[in-house]
Amino acid sequence: APRIGILGLQGGVREHATLVESLDAQPVQIRKPADLLGPDGARVDALILPGGESSVIDRLARMFGLDVPLKELIGQGLPTLGTCAGLILLAKNIENPAPGQQSLGVLDITVNRNAFGPQVESAEADLATEWGAIRAAFIRAPQIVSVDGVDARVMARFGDAIVGVEQGNVLGVSFHPELTGDTVLHRRLLELVG
Ligand code: GLN
Repeated sequence: APRIGILGLQGGVREHATLVESLDAQPVQIRKPADLLGPDGARVDALILPGGESSVIDRLARMFGLDVPLKELIGQGLPTLGTCAGLILLAKNIENPAPGQQSLGVLDITVNRNAFGPQVESAEADLATEWGAIRAAFIRAPQIVSVDGVDARVMARFGDAIVGVEQGNVLGVSFHPELTGDTVLHRRLLELVG
């Protein structure tokens, strides 16, 4: 079974693991660089960066020395899905970072971290996306304010807002598919594993 590394520092890790298991893949919690390699030294087959608080995940990832290997592996083509805070971690530009907040910079987009504001703190919606129909949960969701490279394709919108992109091996969405149990993006990730 493909081994799917889930960055397990903070946030919605368990829900992603449950979805991965339901698709007959094996979730692997990533908390330190060695977790990216299996007992046989083979690296994970894909990565998921979950939602949570992006500034906290960023700080912990750098503290545990995960930022460099993550950036390298994703740059080398490891299939990767970022949801909500995970999308912010992938983004090249953050419009409104927390003090000192950095990102992996592997997705050519600019994000606004809390774009939808308190009036839409949280919402569920059925989205018609380029990946297929998705039941999405938005929780203090970031918005993709611009796509800054020709390689990043807009895949999903919520009203006028861009909420999903795909760039080569990288999938990023503003919302949480794992909270509604929607498997479309996880199946797309497994498809990229091949
Ligand atoms: N706005 C949050 C952040 O900056 C993301 C919220 C979420 O992941 N549900 O990380």
